Amino acid sequence: MSKAYEIIDHQYDVVVVGAGGAGLRATLGLAEKNLSTACITKVFPTRSHTVAAQGGISASLGNMGEDDWRWHMYDTVKGSDWLGDQDAIEYMCKEAPKAVIELEHYGVPFSRTDEGKIYQRPFGGMTTHFGEGTAQRTCAAADRTGHAMLHTLYQQALRNHAEFFIEYFALDLIMDEEGVCRGVMAWNLQDGTIHRFQAHTVILATGGYGRAYFSCTSAHTCTGDGNGMVLRAGLPLQDMEFVQFHPTGVYGAGCLITEGVRGEGGYLTNSEGERFMERYAPNAKDLASRDVVSRSMTIEIREGRGVGKDKDHIHLHLEHLGADVINERLPGIAETARIFAGVDVTKEPIPVLPTVHYNMGGIPANYHGEVLTLKDGNPDHVVPGLMAAGEAACVSVHGANRLGSNSLLDLVVFGRAVAERCGELIEPGQRHKPLPADAGDACLERLDRLRNAKGDLKTADIRLDMQKTMQSHAAVFRTGDVMQEGIEQLKKTVASFDRVSVSDRSLVWNSDLVETLELDNLLGQAMATIESAKNREESRGAHAREDYSDRDDDNWMKHTLAWYDGKGGVKIEYRPVRMDTLTDEVDVIPPKARTY
Ligand SMILES: Cc1cc2nc3c(=O)[nH]c(=O)nc-3n(C[C@H](O)[C@H](O)[C@H](O)COP(=O)(O)OP(=O)(O)OC[C@H]3O[C@@H](n4cnc5c(N)ncnc54)[C@H](O)[C@@H]3O)c2cc1C
Repeated sequence: MSKAYEIIDHQYDVVVVGAGGAGLRATLGLAEKNLSTACITKVFPTRSHTVAAQGGISASLGNMGEDDWRWHMYDTVKGSDWLGDQDAIEYMCKEAPKAVIELEHYGVPFSRTDEGKIYQRPFGGMTTHFGEGTAQRTCAAADRTGHAMLHTLYQQALRNHAEFFIEYFALDLIMDEEGVCRGVMAWNLQDGTIHRFQAHTVILATGGYGRAYFSCTSAHTCTGDGNGMVLRAGLPLQDMEFVQFHPTGVYGAGCLITEGVRGEGGYLTNSEGERFMERYAPNAKDLASRDVVSRSMTIEIREGRGVGKDKDHIHLHLEHLGADVINERLPGIAETARIFAGVDVTKEPIPVLPTVHYNMGGIPANYHGEVLTLKDGNPDHVVPGLMAAGEAACVSVHGANRLGSNSLLDLVVFGRAVAERCGELIEPGQRHKPLPADAGDACLERLDRLRNAKGDLKTADIRLDMQKTMQSHAAVFRTGDVMQEGIEQLKKTVASFDRVSVSDRSLVWNSDLVETLELDNLLGQAMATIESAKNREESRGAHAREDYSDRDDDNWMKHTLAWYDGKGGVKIEYRPVRMDTLTDEVDVIPPKARTY
């Protein structure tokens, strides 16, 4: 097959796939170490989904009240519903203040306090004194923090002469017979050429897969391509059942209204005008963690107290904050609400609904970013030559549920960590072993097959089937029967992919083929998600089973690993949760109350 396509070969010390916050932070760190680095991205770097992050990035700077990284760690372990790996959580929370100051020095234009310090707002689940008070821990650049970070990181990467391959679509990993990752195949969308990148390490920073669902806050490009590549390489994904629903997506459109709105004093009401969160979470109220708020809203709607003609959504109020606070702290939200809900937020509430927002699951990795798999009974076997960072990875610092503002932190802390690890493992300019003779063949066969697919079904129709099934059968509340029905439906959808048709055969800007490749990636992830969810017979974090409503630490305090056979079949194994911390500096209080 490689003979039918002309291949352009490249050699780099490291290849990073993805130019969101994680990919750019990794690329910058590698360039600073003089490792020759290629960063491949299917969209222009500053169009990556990180640009849409609004609320902010957490770090216990203590600029606006007392704070301590140990409290941040406690909140994160508790927020993860005790599924997070505590060595990784300790590493992240301890590194956080340094990472944010570093961003400040790189030039991120954070909002400021009167004293000129970085402005910090409260966010859900963030407390002081191990759950006693409310922490102001989320550092913000108005409500456009991701935008500010992404532009700054891209500029710094350019300053350090990182090389970018922009609008290149990564297709598949190149794995050798020993299970070592040796590079990645990519397609240049602009001129149709095929590229084979050889590298000592490939870092996957391809983001989440929100688009497996019908309603999500993430960009159309969030199709988890790196996760798809990992599944095709015969490696597992971890904890895919944990999908975070953000309580406040704009009703109908799905766009996000940041938790920062509630951090600034916004609140939710039902059709009776009641601030119902006071009933569900008397202490944290509207700032309870996302799973708690999403479930409470769903119950209100189910019990007939939703607002609107169909009583199928909830109101979010910020009128009382006044135009000055809104214009200074939440200008983007005012614009989003005007455009997507036709609402003037200084006068009326925003119609909102829980919407898929974040994937806790992804590529299993340790806190250095090295990818892990189960081999010869060892659940922490490192896959040589492969790393992962950002939302694509499952380190796992978020466990069963991510706290708001911990993802932007995860991106920069682990983006930096993978670069550091590469610095330890690779000498700049180190010699490359020859690639296997058939490197990239299987990948090109798949590309060629899909490019020439002449079936009777459109990509968009198969995708819609998948998204509808996921939305209704792997939702905020889940039961075994409903998920089993979803599995049967999804298997039919996977089978129907054999009948896909691609109308454009060219290799230049063929968006039809891009979407088909993305759908192929999404189908495997959707199957892994719903099978892992059906398999986990307990409720934990974002995974709320009506037929198993309690958390079951005796049987289920473990990570799910899911392998996909490409034909609708999923195999499941487990990894223990890492309860060992890196130091003795923190003693995280063992599980007690589940609610906030
Ligand atoms: C609307 C919204 C608001 C959010 N707000 C916050 C917040 O305030 N605080 C917070 O902590 N978190 C927030 N999050 C979560 C957080 O922003 C994301 O988890 C994070 O930005 C993901 O970053 P990433 O670098 O992993 O991936 P992304 O930013 O999604 O970037 C993925 C990159 O991979 C590339 N890529 C993907 N597939 C391929 C391929 N096949 N070939 C080549 N390149 C590829 C893309 O081009 C892109 O550059 C928010 C998320 C959303 C959706």
